[in-house]
Amino acid sequence: MKIDLHTHSNSSDGTDSPGELVNKALAHGIDVIALTDHDTIAGWDGAISHLRSGISLVLGSEISCQTIDGISVHMLGLLFDEADENLQQLMAQTRENRVGRMERIISRMNEAGIEISMAEVLAQLSQGATLGRPHLADALIAKKVVKSREEAFEELLHNNSKYYIPHMSPTPEQVIKQIKAAGGVAVIAHPLASLRGRTVSLESFASMAAAGLDGVEVSHRDHTPEQRELLQSVISEFGLIATGSSDYHGNGKLNQLAEFTTEPVAFEALEAKANARRVVKA
Ligand code: AMP
Ligand code: ZN
Ligand code: FE
Ligand code: FE
Repeated sequence: MKIDLHTHSNSSDGTDSPGELVNKALAHGIDVIALTDHDTIAGWDGAISHLRSGISLVLGSEISCQTIDGISVHMLGLLFDEADENLQQLMAQTRENRVGRMERIISRMNEAGIEISMAEVLAQLSQGATLGRPHLADALIAKKVVKSREEAFEELLHNNSKYYIPHMSPTPEQVIKQIKAAGGVAVIAHPLASLRGRTVSLESFASMAAAGLDGVEVSHRDHTPEQRELLQSVISEFGLIATGSSDYHGNGKLNQLAEFTTEPVAFEALEAKANARRVVKA
């Protein structure tokens, strides 16, 4: 069984359409694939329509959060009820905040003499997709300012860059509660991925667990062996479920489909925590 619980399509900053993603997952021999675009469920229908026998779909979203100390946290919400208005509103608010934030990043770059416009960034975005820094990277590639998304992040877009501005988003505890209220399960994504900036303290796992956190993405390319070990101890301490996933972004990142996977028993335990059976099969 190959289970990959974290991937992106071009409904956010991945480069494959949701349908292409499902096709590639099938070709890879993946049994269960989750679609987790940033702050949106816009890709769900496209993924469902490409399902065939041999693969099941876990519908979700990677929801942006920020701790009161300003640390960025990504929370995977899986298997929630799409009809839940509060969760949809929460994601819509974050998508809106991302637009103003992008305008501010662009004006900082303009002030520093980098010529780039909002229109050029939006031209990189698929219809209805969540806007993010990777689209700014793509616009900079189109203008030959940089050669790749990697270079764009290394040189200009990383979290410690003078151009970096976070976008407003709710706290991890708030997001966990909303995911749970919508009947889904909450898994914190790459919690110790320190390449991206400051990461949550181990103490904050206690408050996230109290808010209803179900799982922790332990196996992820941005975690060192030591970080994975540390997370295993957090999991034992709070009775959480360990997942593994690729965080695939098509050709927008090096991550390959199913490069890390989730154990079937862990997946079954997660699925049992949703308030309904929502895994989609053809
Ligand atoms: P944002 O959501 O706008 O803050 O942008 C963060 C996104 O940028 C994350 O989803 C990452 O997958 C992506 N990202 C971060 N670092 C890199 C990198 N070095 N190359 C490509 N994408 C990256
Ligand atoms: Zn992303
Ligand atoms: Fe993430
Ligand atoms: Fe991701």
